[in-house]
Amino acid sequence: MSFKTIIGHEQEKSYFKKVIRENNLSHALLLEGPSGIGKKLMAFTIAKALFCDHHTGEACDTCRNCIKMNHGNHPDYSVIEADGNQIKNAQIEAFQEFVNVKPYDAEYKVVVIDDAEKMNLSSQNRILKTLEEPAEDVVIIMVSDQPDRLLPTVLSRAQQIKMNGLSDDAIISYLKSHYSVETSEAEMIAKLASGSIGRSILYLESEIFEVIRKEVKELLIAIDLKDQSKLLELNSFFIKEKENIHEIIEYMILWYRDLLLYKKSKLKQLLIHGHELDFIKKLARNLSIKQLISNIESLELTKKKLDQHGNYDLTIDTMLVKLLEA
Ligand SMILES: [Zn+2]
Repeated sequence: MSFKTIIGHEQEKSYFKKVIRENNLSHALLLEGPSGIGKKLMAFTIAKALFCDHHTGEACDTCRNCIKMNHGNHPDYSVIEADGNQIKNAQIEAFQEFVNVKPYDAEYKVVVIDDAEKMNLSSQNRILKTLEEPAEDVVIIMVSDQPDRLLPTVLSRAQQIKMNGLSDDAIISYLKSHYSVETSEAEMIAKLASGSIGRSILYLESEIFEVIRKEVKELLIAIDLKDQSKLLELNSFFIKEKENIHEIIEYMILWYRDLLLYKKSKLKQLLIHGHELDFIKKLARNLSIKQLISNIESLELTKKKLDQHGNYDLTIDTMLVKLLEA
């Protein structure tokens, strides 16, 4: 693994290559951006390039430092992860002891703090000291998808690097070159993954996506037929899949968008589910363009309410009532 094998994030990669080559890397970094877009991998790759014996700004993958990083046993690299829901004071203490000892093999010590927002208040206050007086040979890389939960004093002492999700096209081309997957399937997965290569791989490699796909289709049929008893049955699906509700709603939106596109254009090639044209025709029959737009709006609103931690059962019930009214 080196910068050239990371997908996307071109600007960040060339920036880090340059500052590492020129010996100008900041001693405290905060990589921020949505989950699953490769922030932790970027942190690892920065450390590896920094440790590499050849000092070119890119890891060579063959020197002893690179090999130790690849084997996950480099003595100068440490990752702190939440213990339960929090990164506790004791973990920061251990980290401070780790950086107090000179590096063994490399010229630096690198500590990655994953989900840095999970540092509790006393951990954040404790780490401030290290951030305020950074040692010459220490680099701290905090990684977070919720940087607003960090103290302003912590934020102000780190160089913040905002990383964005990947484009649908980048994800599609990655999936197609690494998996035997149809274009339509890759497109669907890219849309659902919203910029996260990690999530797109999860969909391909786990059964979650298959389950969601099947159940959402049944849900759409039940809504179309206004089949109350079936909907009641599907209630358990929403309870069971609470963790994946974001994807379920996104996937429902994809279907309604397809129906809308079909209504407006009748062009099969525009549809993500173009291979299921009969199903689309059947569902589109009973819904007007206005109703479809209203359904998509209801789903978007549901997503927003869930993001704001609204009552889960109530939000889902309201969504189903709205969809049934259409
Ligand atoms: Zn190397």
